[in-house]
Amino acid sequence: MAVILDGKKLKEKILESLKIKIDGFTKKPSLTVILVGNDPASRIYVNNKKITAEKIGINSDIITYPSSVTEDELLEKIHELNKDDNVNAILVQLPLPEHISKEKVINMINPQKDVDGFTPYNFGKLFSGEKPFVYPCTPKGILLLLDEYNIELEGKHVVIVGRSNIVGKPLSQMMLNRNATVTICHSHTKNLAEITKTADILVSAVGENIIEGKMLKPGCVVVDVGIFKDAAGRTRGDVDFENVSKIASYISPVPGGVGPMTITSLMLNTVELFEKTL
Ligand code: NAP
Repeated sequence: MAVILDGKKLKEKILESLKIKIDGFTKKPSLTVILVGNDPASRIYVNNKKITAEKIGINSDIITYPSSVTEDELLEKIHELNKDDNVNAILVQLPLPEHISKEKVINMINPQKDVDGFTPYNFGKLFSGEKPFVYPCTPKGILLLLDEYNIELEGKHVVIVGRSNIVGKPLSQMMLNRNATVTICHSHTKNLAEITKTADILVSAVGENIIEGKMLKPGCVVVDVGIFKDAAGRTRGDVDFENVSKIASYISPVPGGVGPMTITSLMLNTVELFEKTL
């Protein structure tokens, strides 16, 4: 049976030491989250971020807007937060309503307060092999998890299923920086199973239950980023956990794998941005 990549346990360990560090600061780091609309999942995510932040001594503020908010109002608020010295980290919870340009909103965030690492400045730095102010939270969390279990990346074939800007693309670059050989797959990839079978490390970030045991090389490491509710309302990942855990050497569960590591990275990034202002 595969070893479980326990994100929940690692989250507790990292946040405990982060709290001690924050306790030592005279001023506290601060994180501001902007939430637009009434998406129940987004509300839960944002509240969890606030609860976690406050538990470890980060000042956290949620600014909410109805989905009728205009793009200009949102841009003006971000401009205001950019100028506010008491705000170290700004996060705009996605998705945004259709009438608002996600790109324009993200572009407005000062890269030095861009806690998700999504602005073109930070993305560009990452893709040009330079150091961004911070690295995107989910890929950063995945690397922290693999490092915790001493899973070597150098020379390994990493197959990433999913090419979004929040997971697949930045993760591919971060893996390349660690000297892995990276293949990215997506919905137009032909013969997905032939490619996944060559993976030493498989990361799936799709949002559908698509990874079966027969698609894997025995002993590979499996990281399941996907999270969604199935028809019965149960939380599921992309991976057929029961069968894959008999074939893989390591596997991250859903829930309790990558999810807790994403929130941990958000806290780490907030503190890193704060420290850069000291
Ligand atoms: P996304 O933007 O919808 O991207 C999904 C990706 O999967 C796309 O690149 C898409 O290809 C690809 N895809 C879809 N169907 C496919 C198929 N049959 N075969 C191969 N590739 C396929 O999603 P996302 O924002 O990256 O999120 C992906 C999943 O991860 C979601 O379940 C999300 O909830 C979860 N997530 C979890 C965390 C966490 O912290 N645990 C963080 C972020 C996201 P195309 O590009 O061709 O459309």
